[in-house]
Amino acid sequence: MMKKLIAGNWKMNGSLAANDALVRALLGGLGTAACDVAVAVPAPYLAQVQALATGTPLQLAAQDVSQHESGAYTGEWSAAMLREFGVRYTLVGHSERRQYHGESDAVVAAKAQRALAAGITPIVCVGETLAQREAGDTESVVRRQLAAVIHVNGHCISEVVVAYEPVWAIGTGRTATPEQAQQVHDVLRAQLAAASPHAAKIRLLYGGSMNAGNAAQLLEQPDIDGGLVGGASLKAADFLQIIAAAQ
Ligand code: PEP
Repeated sequence: MMKKLIAGNWKMNGSLAANDALVRALLGGLGTAACDVAVAVPAPYLAQVQALATGTPLQLAAQDVSQHESGAYTGEWSAAMLREFGVRYTLVGHSERRQYHGESDAVVAAKAQRALAAGITPIVCVGETLAQREAGDTESVVRRQLAAVIHVNGHCISEVVVAYEPVWAIGTGRTATPEQAQQVHDVLRAQLAAASPHAAKIRLLYGGSMNAGNAAQLLEQPDIDGGLVGGASLKAADFLQIIAAAQ
């Protein structure tokens, strides 16, 4: 069976003191986790969390990466820079980046490509808005978003992680039902299978108000291989319960 991945997304939250307490509490409760566990921390804190987590099962993730290799791109950081801080994963195409920073499918695909070239696993986020779901466009939206990434990264697509995050479920407390999530994961798996003989080993995460109460049911779906967890990853006890549900 595939090892699940539970990734926390701290978004733009934290401080040196709060991060220290959170990571120490996580490490205290993690033990030898049977799933992979990562936290996507704000860029200024990568070095801090790297120092705390090195040699532990807690893996480091970034929340974004530049589509460019290096140069005059003020405010951005490259995949090679992330690599220097021991970053294993980076989110690309989170809906907040698509919505507030105008990231197109092509930009997201280029970011995934940069990450892969640096040996970092991109966690490619896809998901529909509420209006798109209500218009019956969920499948076509997520397929279009994933197709762009497959198009650019076809030869190494089996190295990515895909996170299905319905936009209407992110930070809203409104979660997709396990059946709704599984249905979309099934679509994504089929799309990946058409592109790669290794699609069965690509981890598909669900994200969107996952919490200690709903994680187990979501994670027992056949095509849900882990979770991308926002709000609940900021509380060690909640995040540890989600990790426990994935074992
Ligand atoms: C996220 O930010 O990716 C996310 C899923 O957030 P939340 O769990 O808070 O909905």
